[in-house]
Amino acid sequence: MDKISASTNPVILQSEGLLKYILETSVYPREAETLKELRNATANHPLGFMGTSPDAGQLMALLLKLLNAKKTIEVGVFTGYSLLLTALSIPYNGKITAVDPDRKAYEIGLPFIKKAGVLHKIDYIESPALPVLDKLLDDPANEGTFDFAFVDADKNNYWNYHERLIKLVKISGIVAYDNTLWGGTVALPEMVVSETKREWRRCTLDFNEAISKDPRMELAFVSIGDGLTICRRIC
Ligand code: SAH
Ligand code: CA
Repeated sequence: MDKISASTNPVILQSEGLLKYILETSVYPREAETLKELRNATANHPLGFMGTSPDAGQLMALLLKLLNAKKTIEVGVFTGYSLLLTALSIPYNGKITAVDPDRKAYEIGLPFIKKAGVLHKIDYIESPALPVLDKLLDDPANEGTFDFAFVDADKNNYWNYHERLIKLVKISGIVAYDNTLWGGTVALPEMVVSETKREWRRCTLDFNEAISKDPRMELAFVSIGDGLTICRRIC
């Protein structure tokens, strides 16, 4: 087994002090005003912790621009932090297919999306994502047309999403999976993990293992936010 040095220890990399430092020096000062407002409007939501962390968002924005992404898909919108940052990062004629069954949450973020002037880029579909992806694949013309996909919803379906998105995203396109560290529980023995987190911990472990062996992708498993696995389709 390869040796893990202190400099690669995720506990050290993710310490609160360091995160605060990163956010205060490089993330908050550059965060778009409408994103900040959407984040603040979500802060008191009982599920507010689900919003994408702004440092992970900043990395996503950079990836979208490096890719020159125009056509993207998002699975799991919530109040729209990652959706708005995607909309701000793609060109005027870019398009995002955004899927989530919880329209009420989306409506919390909607005023900020409108204010940012990017609503025309968003095709919001109020639905669980799997049937939407299947419907897209019913038309072979959709295959290999997406530049970028962000998956941030029900973790037990990650592999099902993967099998579909790998066909929808073009070669050299990116699929990014959020929460792949699942609150750090992936590195803990099951018995110390609260029961509510155990099932998704198991799903996350299975997904992480399967994706690490998928020869169709290159990947980087990044210790940012709650873990972001960035995959690039290679064949
Ligand atoms: N990306 C969001 C956070 C998403 S939280 C942000 O940056 O704020 C997870 C979301 O997944 C929730 O809004 C939930 O309604 C949605 N979700 C749950 N099951 C889903 C499914 N089967 N398909 C699509 N979205 C789903
Ligand atoms: Ca998430």
